[in-house]
Amino acid sequence: MFDLYTQALTLLQRWPGIGPSASHRLLEFFLQDAQKNKTLHKLGNLMTSFKQCQKCHLYHAVTSECTNCLQSNTTTIMIITSPVDYFFCQQHHFFKKHRFFCLNGYVSPHQGKTLDNTNLNDIIDQLKYIPPQKLYLLFNQSLEARATTWLLRKNISEIHQIYECASLLREKEALHYLTSHDRDQYIESLSNLMNQA
Ligand SMILES: [Zn+2]
Repeated sequence: MFDLYTQALTLLQRWPGIGPSASHRLLEFFLQDAQKNKTLHKLGNLMTSFKQCQKCHLYHAVTSECTNCLQSNTTTIMIITSPVDYFFCQQHHFFKKHRFFCLNGYVSPHQGKTLDNTNLNDIIDQLKYIPPQKLYLLFNQSLEARATTWLLRKNISEIHQIYECASLLREKEALHYLTSHDRDQYIESLSNLMNQA
């Protein structure tokens, strides 16, 4: 019995932001009521409905094609660092007409994030093959983000118009962490940047 608790708590603590006390609260939540427990099964089943696109590295439903890659407009490309950011962007008209590529976080040797496991090498290869006219990097201002930007610039020198959009995201980890007020400001500053370009 004690083993079961330990195993469950260990599994829960693998989730981001879940430490020892949150894992105890969650275990209590799931154990108290069989209905709540069904939420976990539903989530597990739902996760099998996602499929990662081999080109853009975003997720789409297993039953359909990747709508992001079906987009014909590849003149403007946006690079994000979290698949959830794509969901965030698709809720706003402003982003809808552009094609996205998704990095698996920023390159960081310290965290074991290499050019390969962040998909950076793959994205660089694709951008070299069909260089977009404009490339927007929706990154933050962290050291890792700046290093990732440097690697992109170094490897795809044929793209002259690369826009770094870090000023509003600042140190926030990803776009979906923006508040609605930050988000409106972000879209406005991005829109100004695009109009100037
Ligand atoms: Zn795709």
